[in-house]
Amino acid sequence: MRKVKNGVEGVRIEGRWSSGRTRPWLGRGRGFESRPVQVFALDTIERLLDYYGGRSLWKEVKEVFKSEGVPWRERNFRSPFQNLVAVILSQNTSDKNSTRAYIGLLKKFGKITPETLKKARVEEIREAIRPGGLYNLKARRLKELAEIFDKINIKKLKRMGREEARKELMRIKGIGQKSADVFLNYVLGKPSFPIDTNIKRVVRRLGWVGEKASYEEMRKVLESKIPKKLWGKAHELLIRLGRDLCKPKNPKCGECLIREFCEFGKRYKRG
Ligand code: SF4
Repeated sequence: MRKVKNGVEGVRIEGRWSSGRTRPWLGRGRGFESRPVQVFALDTIERLLDYYGGRSLWKEVKEVFKSEGVPWRERNFRSPFQNLVAVILSQNTSDKNSTRAYIGLLKKFGKITPETLKKARVEEIREAIRPGGLYNLKARRLKELAEIFDKINIKKLKRMGREEARKELMRIKGIGQKSADVFLNYVLGKPSFPIDTNIKRVVRRLGWVGEKASYEEMRKVLESKIPKKLWGKAHELLIRLGRDLCKPKNPKCGECLIREFCEFGKRYKRG
C-alpha cells in the first residue's frame, strides 16, 4: 500500500519494520527509528549505500584514463563545453566506451574546446571517437555543438530557474532530457535527477512508476521520493544496481539486496 509521510512516498510491507538505524546524512532524532513499517525509497537507497559503501561510480572511467596514460584531471566534467561533449559521447554506450571516445578526442586534438572542434573536420572527429559507437551521428553533433557553443550564455543560464534553464538547454541540438539534467547538476549547480536507461529499468521494476511512465514522470517521482541532498548519490547507486544486478535480461533478483522492496523481485522464485 502506498502512503505519503513527511512528503515522502513509501510502500507499506506487511510485518516489516524499519532498520532502526539512524541516517547520519539526515541527522539524528528525526523519528525514523521508531516509525513503524514504512519502507521508503530512502530505505532502498540506504541499503544500496550500505552495500556499495564508498565505492566510486567513476572507478571504471578512471581505470580507462590510467590504461590510456592520460591524467584524470583532463576529464574536466565541470567545464561547460567538456561536460556537453562527455554527455553526447555517453549516449547509447557504456562508460568505458564513451571514455575511450573522450580520450580519443584528447589525444587527437590536445584539448577539447569549441575552437579545436570547430577547426576539425567531421571525419577527424569521427575517427577520434570511433570506440564510442554511433560515431557518425556523434561526430556531427559535436561539430554542431562547437559551432553554436559561443551562443550559449552560461551566466544567463545560471541566473535562470532550473526549469527555464532546462528548456533553454534542450533547444540545443543533441541535448535531450538526461543530458540537460546532467548539465544542470554538474555545471550550473542546479540539483536535478538525470535518468539513464539503468535507472529507468530499476525504478519500473521497483514499482515506483508504471511501465509506460515518461522520463518527466520518473523524474518527478524520484525527486519527490528522495531527499534533494541524496539525489546525486541515489543517481549513482541506482545506475550501479542496474549494471550489476538489475540487468535488462535475467536480473539477479536472488542476489539482490533490495528484493523485499521490489515489486518485480517479490515475484521472483528461486529455481
Ligand atoms: S529484486 Fe530483481 S528486479 Fe528488483 S531491483 Fe533487484 S535485481 Fe532488479
